[in-house]
Formats: sequence, structure tokens, C-alpha cells
Amino acid sequence: MKDTFKHKGMRNKLVETITSKGIQDKRVLEAIRNVPRHMFMDSSFEGHAYQDKAFPIAAEQTISQPYTVAFQTELLKAAPGSKVLEIGTGSGYQAAVLLFMKFKVYTIERQLELFKKTSLFFKKMGYRPKKFIFGDGYKGMPEEAPFDAILVTAGAPSIPKALLSQLKVGGRLVIPVGEESQIMTVVIRKSDKEFEREEFGSFKFVPLLENKN
Ligand code: SAH
Repeated sequence: MKDTFKHKGMRNKLVETITSKGIQDKRVLEAIRNVPRHMFMDSSFEGHAYQDKAFPIAAEQTISQPYTVAFQTELLKAAPGSKVLEIGTGSGYQAAVLLFMKFKVYTIERQLELFKKTSLFFKKMGYRPKKFIFGDGYKGMPEEAPFDAILVTAGAPSIPKALLSQLKVGGRLVIPVGEESQIMTVVIRKSDKEFEREEFGSFKFVPLLENKN
């Protein structure tokens, strides 16, 4: 699959769409303008890749809607070079957006099929997260903690304690919380023991699942 002039044109339109929906962060918009989303999707959906919609990937999972990816990334408020942990690698699109923004990216996927597929894809495309593991996002990545920011890309019934403990002081956890639908929630670590919580509207994600193993 190639990235053509036509794809670039469609990405410019997509950037206009998400700007009109309220995304302002220039670095986020540049990432959406540059990451070739169609390459993260099955070829049967290629023609739809630049619609602002979620689409199926493997293992009954979805690539998030571009607006949602942009909104969550904006909420991280992280500077280039920050250590960012993503829970739910899926197609790798969100991770590629984070890499484009020059974050150090750590990412976890629990579906083996997706983990294998996306590992190969990252290699082929030259995307280099610091670490990409097959595992349970509820546990985070304690061996690499603390993180400047943690981004959860699946709906969590409640906020996993392990993720809070892996945030730096001043760090931010961006997580959709809820079962049927989710409230986008940001938890900021104010000190060792103090956390502040902010909420930002309703979204629909696939569920953050407990591990089968
Ligand atoms: N960020 C992805 C979105 C994928 S959808 C993208 O850009 O394409 C959410 C992903 O979270 C799915 O791939 C799902 O398998 C994964 N997931 C669900 N529960 C998980 C868990 N406990 N740990 C890690 N990943 C999980």
C-alpha cells in the first residue's frame, strides 16, 4: 500500500474536520496530517480511512475515530521527549501519532493476533516504540515506570490502581471510564498521594478486558 498525493489531500480534509470539532493543538493536527491511517487498516476499508470514523481491525477490535485519537492525545499535554504509556496498541495508529510527536512510546496489547500483526507492521514501516509488549494493560508496565502520561484506548469499568501508581508527579492519565459508554477522564497526579480528576464528555470504546491467562 502506498501513500499517495490523494491520501495526503484526504488527510488535509480530515484535519479540517477535526479542527471544526474543536481540536486545537498544532502538534496533534500535524501528526494527523502526516500519519498514513489507511496503512493501519485492512485494504477493504482503505477508501474510508480518512472519514472521521472508527473501523474494524482484527480480533473484533477497532481503530479509534481520528477525532478521538486527537482528543485523547491533546489531553495528554505532554512535551516532546515525554515518556508515554499506551494501553491497547490495536492497529498501532495511536502509537504512530505519539511517535510522530516525538514521545518515547511504550505500548501494550492483550490480543495475541493483533500483537503479532502490529509488531510486523511496525518493523515494516520503521515505527520504533521503546517497548511493545503482549500483556495485560491493567498492570501497566511497572518495569518502565514512572511515565509522564498514560493513555488508555479501551473503555475501563474503573480506573486501574496500577496505572495511577505508575504516573510521575505532575503526570496525566487519560482514560475512558464506563461500561456501555465512557466518560473521558483525566487523572492528574498532584503529589505522591494526591490525584485530581477532570471529566470531558461521553465516548464509545471497545472494552478494556481483564486478562484471559
Ligand atoms: N489504539 C488503538 C485502538 C484499538 S481498540 C488503535 O489506534 O488502533 C483498543 C485495544 O485495546 C484493542 O486492540 C484491544 O485488544 C486492547 N485491549 C483491551 N483490553 C486490554 C488490556 N487489558 N490490555 C491491553 N490491551 C487491551
